[in-house]
Parts: sequence; C-alpha cells; structure tokens
Amino acid sequence: MDKEIRVRFAPSPTGPFHIGGARSALFNWLLARKMGGKMVLRIEDTDVERSTPESEENIKAALKWLGLDWDEGIDVGGPYGPYRQMERLDIYKKYTDKLLAEGKAYYCYCTPQELDAEREALTAKSMMPRYMGKCRNLSPEQIEAYKAEGRKPSIRFRVPEGEKLTFVDMVRGEVSFESDGIGDFVIVKSDGIPTYNYAVVIDDSLMHITHVIRAEEHLSNTPRQLLIYDALNFERPQFGHISLILGKDKKKMSKRHGATSVDQYRQMGYLPEGLVNFLALLGWAPSSEQEIFTEEELIKAFSMEHVAKNPAVFDVDKLNWINQHYMRKLTAEEFFAAAKPHMISAGYMTGTEQGEKLAWLEKVVATAKEQVSFGAEIPRVVGMYFADDFDFETTEAEAVLKEDSVPMVMKMFIDELQAAPIIDGSVVKGIFKSIQKATKFGGKLVYMPVRVALTGNQHGPELVEIIPLLGVERSIKRIKNSLEKAGISLA
Ligand code: GLU
Repeated sequence: MDKEIRVRFAPSPTGPFHIGGARSALFNWLLARKMGGKMVLRIEDTDVERSTPESEENIKAALKWLGLDWDEGIDVGGPYGPYRQMERLDIYKKYTDKLLAEGKAYYCYCTPQELDAEREALTAKSMMPRYMGKCRNLSPEQIEAYKAEGRKPSIRFRVPEGEKLTFVDMVRGEVSFESDGIGDFVIVKSDGIPTYNYAVVIDDSLMHITHVIRAEEHLSNTPRQLLIYDALNFERPQFGHISLILGKDKKKMSKRHGATSVDQYRQMGYLPEGLVNFLALLGWAPSSEQEIFTEEELIKAFSMEHVAKNPAVFDVDKLNWINQHYMRKLTAEEFFAAAKPHMISAGYMTGTEQGEKLAWLEKVVATAKEQVSFGAEIPRVVGMYFADDFDFETTEAEAVLKEDSVPMVMKMFIDELQAAPIIDGSVVKGIFKSIQKATKFGGKLVYMPVRVALTGNQHGPELVEIIPLLGVERSIKRIKNSLEKAGISLA
C-alpha cells in the first residue's frame, strides 16, 4: 500500500491571516482530501514576542469559515501532539542534545553587537553576510571565559562545507543550493527557544508529514532544513513551493493593493465558496477552461502538477465575478442574511426588525440579488429606497424634468397612482400604458421623467419594481419634491 499522504498547515499566529496563508492551507487541504490523506494544523508560535492567542483564534475561525477542516492538530488533537510548538520544547531539546553530542551543533557565545559588526564588515567587502564560524571550535578555556562573563549562548548548526543541496520541488522541479553560502545558522536561541528552520524539521518529521506545500518565500529556507533532515537521519518529505501572489501591477501583494486578510474579505461580505474558488485558481489551473468549481469539483480536479511556477496575480475583478456567481445562487433567505450586517451598518435597518417592515426590507434587499458581487455592495444598490430627499445625479437627469410634456405626464401619473386600489408591478404597467394612450407620447417621454423624479437618476431598476416598493405616498412625495427642485409646477 502506498504511504498515507500527510500534509500540514503551520501558520505563525503573528498577525492578520493573510490570503496567501489561506491559499497555502487550501492547497494542502485539497491534496489531503483528494488523496484520502490527513491534514494537520500546527501552530508555529516560537516568535513569542509577536505570537498572540487572538491571532491563533483568528486563523482557526478563518479556516473554519472557509470550510478547511483538519484531521489532527490544535483543538482536535492527534497521535503526534502537542501541536503548538511552544508546548514541544522538551522534544526539540532531545534532538539538540543529540546534535551537540555528535558535534553537528555547537554553542555560540557571540553577542548581537559582535554579530552586527561581522555582518557590517562583510557587507563593506561586498561579501554575503553570514556567520563566519567564530565559535565553531572554541577551546574549553574560551568557553569557560565566556561563561564567566555571563554570556548566554545560542546553538548553531555546523553547516558542512562544499555540499550541494538538491531536491525536487513539486512546483519548481530540481532546485540546488550550495552549502557554502549558508553559514552556520542558529537552531536554538539563547533563551532556549528553537528557530523556525529547526523546529519545523523536527515537527514535520515526527508528525510524518509527507508533503510540505508552502509559500515560495520559504524556498531559500529549504536548504537549511535539508541539512537538519540529513543530520538527524530523518527522511525528507516532498516540498512544493507555491508562487508569490502579486497585485495587478505585478508587485508583491500588499496593503496598497487593498484588502489582504481573509477577515477583511469576510467582513466585506464575500462568500467562503467564492473566496475558496478564487484562491484555488491563484497559482493552480485546471486542465479545462472551467472557472467555477464546487468544493467537490475542486478536490477532484486539483493536482500539484498543475500548480504554476510563475507568480499568481490577484485580480479582484475576477474575485468579484466568481463571488457574484455564488451570490446569485443564494436563496432569498440566505441573501437577506448575507445582506443584514451591511444593511445594519449602513443604518438602513436594525437587528430586530419585524412584521411589515421586515417584509418590506426583504423585498428591497431582494432587488439587489442579481446586481452585487459581495455583501458590502448591497446598501449602495438599495440606498434609493431609503432616502426620499436626494439630489439629481447629473444635470442631464434634471433636464429630463424640464421637457414641456412633464407637468401633464406627472399630473396624470399622480392621479392614477392615487386612484389605484393596490399597487403592484402590473398595476404600474397599466398606469404607464394608459398615460401613453391618452397623451400619444412615446414610452420614453413617460417613463424617463417618472424615473428621474422618483430616483434622481436616469438609470436603475425597473419602475415596476421601484414604485410598488416605495408605495403611493412616498412616490408622490418624491415626485413633488423633484419637480420643486427643478423649478417645475404640476399641470
Ligand atoms: N510558520 C511558517 C509560516 O507561517 C510556516 C512555513 C512552513 O510552512 O514551513 O510562514
């Protein structure tokens, strides 16, 4: 039987959960689900200054919201826990002792000032800054002297000279690094906490991770990690480094390009299905032209072979297009629920609406369904139902009301509205027909002034939709206000 596929997502809980992180999580998850493997969620919290419980919560909440579950890891447990690195310090220590005993690692007593000075001196000589191995072969006397000074040592890995470190990346193919460029690197800091490059290897190995799929920025860390794998006689996993995410200007995606965290997209009212579909296409392309994928379809179609080497461009128009597809598929209740927080923050409703008002709000919100790409756009689209006092959108719109025919048309329209026993789409249609018949005016001369008088705008939803929602009283009030603003009296 083939070995079980085991992947992991190993975020550092040090800030907002970036969409790049979500994409790494998604690719790992897709591979696990496709291959019937296991997904592990491990928290890499060794940067104690920057790691926070809130950030960990935020990552978990975002993964759950996206529907990316994990089989082992924090909260759910598993056979290879604990799954938070700061709870595994004794595990790392065991391996560190082994490396020290075998001479594969050593204590380094250099102070930060000494290291800075070394870095500066190398840079001044146009050499690559790296640790030159000052503490590599300290005599017992030197060590005693440093200890007597009260220096606290870090532990460095002794990088072998002249080694070529080669691996086959699932995305990039064969990649090679020379060990000579690396410099003995710190594996345990002077406070006893391991560094990322060290802890990650021990964890991935002890957790039996078979495939490490992560962001391209870690490609240059991989040779250091390979050295540790080899030094501890661990079997190397397969690596896959997925490309950077760029903004449309081809620069690395950053805050300048707009929202970068999953939470921001959730708050803007993007749907998890939309975001997942979009993120899957950021660097992966199916063999067909298909762009809209259900979760099952993604799992079925996904493969690491189709993950591209070249950078992925974050195209927000594409995200909007994809998300719009999912917005349109929502039921009326789901769409209203999606709209609610945005309608509340726009001040158009409270969280406790009931009865007639609630029924009216549901109808109003429903008019936006085909028009928006994400939830936060809804209040803008339905805003005209809430503000009876508005300005004309353009001077052309205002000019529509200055046609000679307008006073007569408006008078007839108001009279008919008032006479109608109920107002719905077909009644409104009937009113327009009868005005056209009586005046012999073309459609435009009838519809357009009514539209402008009711909304201030020459464009917008159908009048048969707008008028029943506004009702007779508000429609008439709006018409009168608009005519007054344009300086027109009713016939
Ligand atoms: N904690 C690392 C990060 O968040 C994980 C990198 C890796 O997947 O190895 O970038």
